[in-house]
Amino acid sequence: MFILFLGPPGSGKGTQAKILSKRLGKPQIATGEILRAAVAQGTPLGQKVKEHMDKGQLVPDDVILDLIKDVLDRPDAKDGAIFDGFPRTVAQAQQVDRLLAGRGQRLTHVLLFDVPEEELVRRMHHRATVEGRTDDTPDAIRKRLEVYRQQTAPLVALYAQRGTVHRVEATGSVEAVAEQVKRIVGH
Ligand code: AMP
Repeated sequence: MFILFLGPPGSGKGTQAKILSKRLGKPQIATGEILRAAVAQGTPLGQKVKEHMDKGQLVPDDVILDLIKDVLDRPDAKDGAIFDGFPRTVAQAQQVDRLLAGRGQRLTHVLLFDVPEEELVRRMHHRATVEGRTDDTPDAIRKRLEVYRQQTAPLVALYAQRGTVHRVEATGSVEAVAEQVKRIVGH
């Protein structure tokens, strides 16, 4: 099972990916978390991506592609994973297809997390206060929503053509949303 969580920043993908990961015993692979850890540790990767992240822009595709290759090679992701926050561009989506196909695998589910924009902004402001994320400033929040609309939202049509998109009404409580995810995934 390779499950993709697609949706704008603040739509609760991360929270739900953690819950599903625990239930299925499959890893949650979140590029945003991997990159934030690299920035916090000041690794060469972290230094390369910090500025993009702080501005709310996407990190270049080639950086992400290297990262995706590494994570797909992880033994725990051999027969399933939850992709949280990637692919985020058409180029990344094509690369994911190629890498999975090379392993005799494919994406099995695409879940689209749907939340109205005012609610997203409210959640991200809250997260900035609670978690102190440097990419949750008002400017970066606006930028990240714009980047989502322009670069990531086109993936919805791409996956819809294949008939694999399931819409999740993601404004409800964490439990209510988890219940929808469970119904879609069937576990
Ligand atoms: P997230 O935690 O998923 O919202 O990601 C935080 C930030 O990390 C994003 O605003 C991007 O700068 C960067 N990032 C995470 N995943 C990707 C990706 N798949 N492609 C490009 N940039 C990414």
